[in-house]
Amino acid sequence: MKRVFFIFFLLAPIICGRPCFAAETACQVHPQIAWQGKTLAVKVPAEDVASVSGIFLGQKFLCYKKGDVYKGIIGVPLDQKPGYYKLKLFITRTDGAKETRIKQLKVWSTRFPYSKFWLPPARNKLRARQIVNNEWALIDKVLRQEATAQRWQGKFIDPVTGEVSQGFGHKQIINGKAAGSHRGVDYTVISGTEVIAPNNGKIVFADRLQAFGGTMVLDHGQGIHTLYFHLSKMIAPVGQEVKKGQVIALSGNSGVSSGAHLHWGMSVHNLRVDPKQWVKYDI
Ligand SMILES: [Zn+2]
Repeated sequence: MKRVFFIFFLLAPIICGRPCFAAETACQVHPQIAWQGKTLAVKVPAEDVASVSGIFLGQKFLCYKKGDVYKGIIGVPLDQKPGYYKLKLFITRTDGAKETRIKQLKVWSTRFPYSKFWLPPARNKLRARQIVNNEWALIDKVLRQEATAQRWQGKFIDPVTGEVSQGFGHKQIINGKAAGSHRGVDYTVISGTEVIAPNNGKIVFADRLQAFGGTMVLDHGQGIHTLYFHLSKMIAPVGQEVKKGQVIALSGNSGVSSGAHLHWGMSVHNLRVDPKQWVKYDI
Protein backbone atom coordinates (compact mmCIF):
# COMPACT_ATOMS: atom_id res chain seq x y z
CA MET A 1 0.00 0.00 0.00
CA LYS A 2 2.89 2.34 0.90
CA ARG A 3 4.25 1.92 -2.58
CA VAL A 4 0.87 2.87 -4.12
CA PHE A 5 0.86 6.14 -2.13
CA PHE A 6 4.46 6.84 -3.12
CA ILE A 7 3.62 6.38 -6.82
CA PHE A 8 0.56 8.61 -6.43
CA PHE A 9 2.68 11.41 -4.92
CA LEU A 10 5.13 11.09 -7.81
CA LEU A 11 2.36 11.30 -10.40
CA ALA A 12 0.11 13.81 -8.62
CA PRO A 13 1.51 16.94 -10.36
CA ILE A 14 1.04 15.24 -13.77
CA ILE A 15 -2.47 13.98 -13.04
CA CYS A 16 -3.61 17.30 -11.59
CA GLY A 17 -2.13 19.33 -14.48
CA ARG A 18 -1.56 22.22 -12.09
CA PRO A 19 -1.16 25.74 -13.46
CA CYS A 20 2.50 26.74 -13.67
CA PHE A 21 2.31 30.44 -12.89
CA ALA A 22 0.40 32.91 -10.78
CA ALA A 23 -3.39 32.72 -11.06
CA GLU A 24 -3.61 35.79 -13.35
CA THR A 25 -1.79 33.89 -16.13
CA ALA A 26 -2.46 30.23 -15.43
CA CYS A 27 -0.36 28.69 -18.19
CA GLN A 28 0.01 24.95 -18.71
CA VAL A 29 2.91 22.85 -20.00
CA HIS A 30 2.18 19.40 -21.50
CA PRO A 31 3.64 16.97 -20.85
CA GLN A 32 5.10 18.31 -17.62
CA ILE A 33 8.20 16.17 -17.98
CA ALA A 34 10.69 17.52 -20.51
CA TRP A 35 12.35 14.35 -21.81
CA GLN A 36 15.44 14.69 -24.02
CA GLY A 37 14.42 14.62 -27.70
CA LYS A 38 10.71 15.17 -27.07
CA THR A 39 8.23 17.99 -27.70
CA LEU A 40 6.35 20.15 -25.18
CA ALA A 41 3.29 22.36 -25.67
CA VAL A 42 2.74 25.55 -23.64
CA LYS A 43 -0.73 27.05 -23.34
CA VAL A 44 -1.60 30.53 -22.03
CA PRO A 45 -5.26 31.67 -21.62
CA ALA A 46 -6.01 34.13 -24.44
CA GLU A 47 -8.33 36.43 -22.44
CA ASP A 48 -7.03 40.05 -22.60
CA VAL A 49 -3.84 38.81 -24.31
CA ALA A 50 -2.59 40.31 -27.60
CA SER A 51 0.54 38.19 -28.13
CA VAL A 52 2.78 35.60 -26.46
CA SER A 53 6.34 34.55 -27.26
CA GLY A 54 8.89 32.59 -25.30
CA ILE A 55 12.38 31.20 -24.98
CA PHE A 56 13.57 27.83 -23.67
CA LEU A 57 17.14 26.50 -23.87
CA GLY A 58 18.03 29.38 -26.19
CA GLN A 59 15.21 28.44 -28.58
CA LYS A 60 12.85 31.35 -29.28
CA PHE A 61 9.28 30.52 -30.20
CA LEU A 62 6.02 32.28 -30.98
CA CYS A 63 2.69 31.20 -29.49
CA TYR A 64 -0.34 31.13 -31.79
CA LYS A 65 -3.97 31.74 -30.85
CA LYS A 66 -6.09 28.58 -30.93
CA GLY A 67 -9.58 29.12 -29.55
CA ASP A 68 -9.30 30.42 -26.02
CA VAL A 69 -5.54 29.85 -25.59
CA TYR A 70 -2.19 30.87 -27.07
CA LYS A 71 -0.19 27.74 -27.80
CA GLY A 72 3.57 27.42 -28.26
CA ILE A 73 5.55 24.32 -29.20
CA ILE A 74 9.02 23.61 -27.83
CA GLY A 75 11.56 20.92 -28.67
CA VAL A 76 13.99 19.52 -26.10
CA PRO A 77 17.44 18.79 -27.62
CA LEU A 78 18.28 15.09 -27.38
CA ASP A 79 21.73 15.93 -25.99
CA GLN A 80 20.52 18.52 -23.43
CA LYS A 81 22.17 17.92 -20.06
CA PRO A 82 19.50 16.83 -17.55
CA GLY A 83 18.66 19.49 -14.96
CA TYR A 84 16.43 22.52 -14.33
CA TYR A 85 16.13 25.20 -17.00
CA LYS A 86 14.09 28.41 -17.23
CA LEU A 87 11.14 28.68 -19.57
CA LYS A 88 10.44 32.40 -20.13
CA LEU A 89 7.16 33.65 -21.55
CA PHE A 90 6.68 37.22 -22.76
CA ILE A 91 3.02 38.22 -22.68
CA THR A 92 1.61 41.45 -24.15
CA ARG A 93 -1.89 42.29 -22.96
CA THR A 94 -4.52 43.99 -25.11
CA ASP A 95 -4.06 47.21 -23.08
CA GLY A 96 -0.34 47.18 -23.99
CA ALA A 97 0.88 45.98 -20.56
CA LYS A 98 3.76 43.52 -20.70
CA GLU A 99 4.46 40.57 -18.40
CA THR A 100 7.34 38.14 -18.24
CA ARG A 101 6.65 34.76 -16.66
CA ILE A 102 9.36 32.31 -15.68
CA LYS A 103 8.94 28.62 -14.95
CA GLN A 104 11.62 26.11 -14.08
CA LEU A 105 11.31 22.98 -16.21
CA LYS A 106 13.25 19.84 -15.45
CA VAL A 107 14.90 18.07 -18.38
CA TRP A 108 14.98 14.31 -17.79
CA SER A 109 17.37 11.95 -19.50
CA THR A 110 16.11 9.50 -22.13
CA ARG A 111 17.88 6.15 -22.58
CA PHE A 112 19.08 5.96 -26.17
CA PRO A 113 20.39 2.55 -27.32
CA TYR A 114 23.34 1.93 -29.64
CA SER A 115 22.86 1.00 -33.32
CA LYS A 116 25.74 -0.53 -35.26
CA PHE A 117 25.86 -0.79 -39.03
CA TRP A 118 28.31 -1.13 -41.89
CA LEU A 119 28.67 1.15 -44.91
CA PRO A 120 30.66 0.08 -47.99
CA PRO A 121 33.50 2.52 -48.95
CA ALA A 122 31.57 4.19 -51.80
CA ARG A 123 28.68 5.09 -49.42
CA ASN A 124 30.98 5.98 -46.54
CA LYS A 125 32.70 8.60 -48.75
CA LEU A 126 29.41 10.50 -48.94
CA ARG A 127 29.69 11.23 -45.21
CA ALA A 128 32.52 13.72 -45.92
CA ARG A 129 32.01 16.79 -43.72
CA GLN A 130 32.05 19.16 -46.68
CA ILE A 131 29.31 17.26 -48.53
CA VAL A 132 27.11 16.94 -45.44
CA ASN A 133 27.61 20.59 -44.39
CA ASN A 134 26.86 21.96 -47.87
CA GLU A 135 23.74 19.85 -48.22
CA TRP A 136 22.51 20.52 -44.70
CA ALA A 137 22.83 24.29 -45.37
CA LEU A 138 20.19 23.89 -48.12
CA ILE A 139 17.81 22.02 -45.81
CA ASP A 140 18.51 24.36 -42.89
CA LYS A 141 17.34 27.31 -45.02
CA VAL A 142 13.81 25.90 -45.36
CA LEU A 143 13.62 24.71 -41.74
CA ARG A 144 14.18 28.31 -40.62
CA GLN A 145 11.03 29.49 -42.43
CA GLU A 146 8.05 29.74 -40.10
CA ALA A 147 4.64 29.99 -41.80
CA THR A 148 2.09 31.52 -39.42
CA ALA A 149 -0.86 29.32 -40.46
CA GLN A 150 -1.21 25.89 -38.82
CA ARG A 151 -1.49 23.33 -41.60
CA TRP A 152 -1.38 20.12 -39.53
CA GLN A 153 -4.54 18.80 -37.91
CA GLY A 154 -4.54 16.32 -35.05
CA LYS A 155 -2.16 13.39 -34.70
CA PHE A 156 0.42 12.56 -37.38
CA ILE A 157 0.38 9.16 -39.08
CA ASP A 158 3.41 7.02 -40.02
CA PRO A 159 4.63 7.96 -43.54
CA VAL A 160 5.07 4.25 -44.38
CA THR A 161 4.01 0.98 -42.77
CA GLY A 162 7.13 -0.90 -41.77
CA GLU A 163 9.31 -2.10 -38.95
CA VAL A 164 11.39 0.61 -37.25
CA SER A 165 14.99 -0.48 -37.74
CA GLN A 166 16.53 2.48 -35.91
CA GLY A 167 14.65 4.77 -33.54
CA PHE A 168 15.16 8.44 -32.75
CA GLY A 169 18.28 9.30 -30.74
CA HIS A 170 20.07 5.96 -31.23
CA LYS A 171 23.82 6.35 -30.80
CA GLN A 172 25.24 5.29 -34.14
CA ILE A 173 28.36 3.20 -34.59
CA ILE A 174 29.25 3.27 -38.29
CA ASN A 175 32.04 0.96 -39.48
CA GLY A 176 33.15 0.53 -35.86
CA LYS A 177 33.36 4.29 -35.03
CA ALA A 178 31.01 6.51 -33.00
CA ALA A 179 29.09 8.67 -35.50
CA GLY A 180 26.71 10.83 -33.47
CA SER A 181 23.02 10.46 -32.75
CA HIS A 182 20.26 9.44 -35.13
CA ARG A 183 17.92 12.41 -35.58
CA GLY A 184 14.96 10.61 -37.08
CA VAL A 185 13.20 7.25 -37.32
CA ASP A 186 14.19 4.61 -39.91
CA TYR A 187 11.57 2.25 -41.34
CA THR A 188 12.72 -0.88 -43.17
CA VAL A 189 10.73 -0.84 -46.41
CA ILE A 190 11.59 -2.07 -49.90
CA SER A 191 12.61 0.57 -52.47
CA GLY A 192 9.58 1.94 -54.28
CA THR A 193 7.27 1.89 -51.23
CA GLU A 194 4.78 4.76 -51.33
CA VAL A 195 5.57 7.49 -48.79
CA ILE A 196 2.51 9.41 -47.61
CA ALA A 197 2.21 12.85 -46.01
CA PRO A 198 1.83 12.18 -42.26
CA ASN A 199 -0.28 15.33 -41.96
CA ASN A 200 -1.40 18.31 -44.03
CA GLY A 201 1.50 20.42 -45.23
CA LYS A 202 3.28 22.09 -48.11
CA ILE A 203 6.27 20.66 -50.00
CA VAL A 204 9.08 23.18 -49.48
CA PHE A 205 12.11 21.11 -50.55
CA ALA A 206 12.64 18.27 -53.03
CA ASP A 207 16.10 17.52 -54.39
CA ARG A 208 18.55 14.70 -55.09
CA LEU A 209 21.44 15.09 -52.65
CA GLN A 210 24.62 13.01 -52.32
CA ALA A 211 24.61 12.31 -48.56
CA PHE A 212 20.88 12.48 -47.80
CA GLY A 213 19.84 10.96 -51.12
CA GLY A 214 16.42 11.88 -52.53
CA THR A 215 15.26 14.45 -49.96
CA MET A 216 11.94 16.13 -49.27
CA VAL A 217 10.76 18.56 -46.58
CA LEU A 218 7.14 19.28 -45.68
CA ASP A 219 6.18 22.50 -43.93
CA HIS A 220 3.27 21.93 -41.52
CA GLY A 221 3.21 25.59 -40.40
CA GLN A 222 4.18 27.42 -37.22
CA GLY A 223 7.78 26.12 -37.28
CA ILE A 224 6.89 22.41 -37.63
CA HIS A 225 8.54 20.52 -40.53
CA THR A 226 9.02 16.84 -41.44
CA LEU A 227 11.96 15.44 -43.43
CA TYR A 228 12.30 12.39 -45.74
CA PHE A 229 15.69 11.00 -46.83
CA HIS A 230 17.01 8.27 -49.18
CA LEU A 231 14.00 8.52 -51.54
CA SER A 232 14.05 6.92 -55.00
CA LYS A 233 11.38 9.22 -56.47
CA MET A 234 9.88 12.55 -55.48
CA ILE A 235 6.28 12.79 -56.65
CA ALA A 236 4.76 15.97 -55.14
CA PRO A 237 6.51 19.09 -56.46
CA VAL A 238 7.84 22.00 -54.39
CA GLY A 239 5.04 24.46 -53.64
CA GLN A 240 2.25 21.84 -53.62
CA GLU A 241 -0.10 21.69 -50.64
CA VAL A 242 -0.65 18.05 -49.65
CA LYS A 243 -3.23 16.34 -47.47
CA LYS A 244 -2.67 13.79 -44.71
CA GLY A 245 -2.38 10.37 -46.40
CA GLN A 246 -1.49 11.70 -49.88
CA VAL A 247 1.42 9.94 -51.65
CA ILE A 248 4.35 12.36 -51.91
CA ALA A 249 7.30 10.11 -52.84
CA LEU A 250 8.69 6.57 -53.19
CA SER A 251 11.20 5.25 -50.67
CA GLY A 252 14.66 4.13 -51.76
CA ASN A 253 18.25 3.45 -50.76
CA SER A 254 20.02 6.60 -51.99
CA GLY A 255 22.76 8.53 -50.17
CA VAL A 256 24.37 7.40 -46.91
CA SER A 257 22.25 4.29 -46.49
CA SER A 258 23.15 0.72 -45.59
CA GLY A 259 19.97 -0.77 -47.09
CA ALA A 260 16.52 0.13 -48.41
CA HIS A 261 14.69 2.25 -45.83
CA LEU A 262 12.88 5.52 -45.20
CA HIS A 263 14.36 8.07 -42.78
CA TRP A 264 11.64 10.26 -41.27
CA GLY A 265 12.64 13.37 -39.31
CA MET A 266 10.63 15.94 -37.37
CA SER A 267 11.77 19.51 -36.83
CA VAL A 268 10.39 21.94 -34.22
CA HIS A 269 11.75 25.46 -34.77
CA ASN A 270 14.72 23.87 -36.55
CA LEU A 271 15.44 21.35 -33.77
CA ARG A 272 15.12 17.62 -34.48
CA VAL A 273 12.76 15.76 -32.13
CA ASP A 274 11.19 12.28 -31.99
CA PRO A 275 8.42 12.11 -34.67
CA LYS A 276 6.83 9.07 -33.01
CA GLN A 277 5.58 11.27 -30.13
CA TRP A 278 3.52 13.19 -32.72
CA VAL A 279 1.99 9.90 -33.98
CA LYS A 280 1.00 8.88 -30.47
CA TYR A 281 -0.33 12.23 -29.23
CA ASP A 282 -2.15 15.25 -30.63
CA ILE A 283 0.46 17.80 -29.58
ZN1 LIG B 1 17.86 7.51 -40.43
